[in-house]
Amino acid sequence: MHRVDVLIIGAGAAGMLAAAEAGKRGRRVLLVDHAKKAGDKIRISGGGRCNFTNVNTSFKQFLSENPRFAISPLKRFSAQDFIGRVRQRQIAFHEKTLGQLFCDESAQLIIDMLLDDLRDAGVELRLKTNVHRVQKTGDRFVVELDDEQVEADKLVVATGGKSIPKMGATGFGYDVAQQFGLRVVETRPALVPLTFDQSTLAPIKELAGVAIDPARVSHGKTRFDEALLFTHRGLSGPAILQISSFWREGDQIGVNMLPGMDLFAQLRAARQENGKRAIQTVLSQHLPKRVVDFVLETQQLGGNLADISDKKLKSLATAIEQWMIKPTGSEGYRTAEVTLGGVATDELDNRTMEAKKVPGLYFIGEVVDMTGWLGGYNFQWAWSSAWVAGQAV
Ligand code: FAD
Repeated sequence: MHRVDVLIIGAGAAGMLAAAEAGKRGRRVLLVDHAKKAGDKIRISGGGRCNFTNVNTSFKQFLSENPRFAISPLKRFSAQDFIGRVRQRQIAFHEKTLGQLFCDESAQLIIDMLLDDLRDAGVELRLKTNVHRVQKTGDRFVVELDDEQVEADKLVVATGGKSIPKMGATGFGYDVAQQFGLRVVETRPALVPLTFDQSTLAPIKELAGVAIDPARVSHGKTRFDEALLFTHRGLSGPAILQISSFWREGDQIGVNMLPGMDLFAQLRAARQENGKRAIQTVLSQHLPKRVVDFVLETQQLGGNLADISDKKLKSLATAIEQWMIKPTGSEGYRTAEVTLGGVATDELDNRTMEAKKVPGLYFIGEVVDMTGWLGGYNFQWAWSSAWVAGQAV
């Protein structure tokens, strides 16, 4: 039997950072993953450039039964702490928008940094290794891998959520939690494109490929001003991904294609200034032409401003600023960036990420019921929760 101090399952963002931290503290650490490579989601994240944190991270950008659970971990290992490591490693990065930090070159540089940290900390990394069974006997964990049993004082579950099963995502972490009697908050795909029924989709299909940046997409009181993208399957882009985490079946979402503008007032002023201008020309100053054509067609409008009544201008402005649309679903875990829900925070101690009922068992990263908005928050949660566990195991 192979004996270690700490066994970590899942060599993603959280697992790698926690393993390195524990290794640095002199623990004998084994990190296993069934995938061929460690940190595969980091590699594809942020369009290959990894939006590795957000300078504005606070608990307010997280969805959870108890977002405040994140306060202490985010404080103890903050965005600035991770940025410090990126700087020290001399990885060039830039702020894209809204505090989001991306690598200038490649996400692989973040993976390489973490892999070097593992090596320096003496962590044993075993890839292409399946975990068949987890048991606790006395105060030790016995874990059955493909070819051997491992005995560990501490077991850290860092297997992420269910998003993108093609990349090796599984519900393993939730199963382990349930096996040990821990509550799991219902999971659902989040940060995911939304889909529509044929009657809604048919008219907007011709807009596939068009972006509106920014659009204001809202659900109840929640709203995001970010880019919206029309696709062949429905709507996507950052604004839609953000709202997808809040949307529930049966709900409508609102789209304001021209946030921060009083379109009716603008159109009236334009008419007064020069009524001979075509409505299409005026709107095209603010919106992509294909969107303008689509809206004018649905409103059965055209011609010169002078010939359009206030009532019709008002109705046009409403169609553009208050477009209500009802998604029928989402693209699901196949393309979702993250998984909402997970191991309930009230089962865990946020000073250590240890399960209150099961000494020695830890959950970190996305497997926990702590889901960030789009914009680097999810990685920061992975780093922060992992660091906390790394100090405790
Ligand atoms: P993961 O990184 O998912 O790691 C889990 C690991 O566990 C994987 O290596 C997996 O192979 C392994 N595993 C799973 N099941 C088992 C099992 N049964 N046995 C053994 N091993 C197992 N977030 C951001 O903050 N910024 C971004 O730019 C960003 N871009 C993204 C782009 C895409 C396309 C996707 C899908 C996600 C993106 N995210 C981004 C979200 C981010 O990748 C995750 O929140 C983060 O990776 C979670 O880290 P984790 O370590 O908890 O889980």
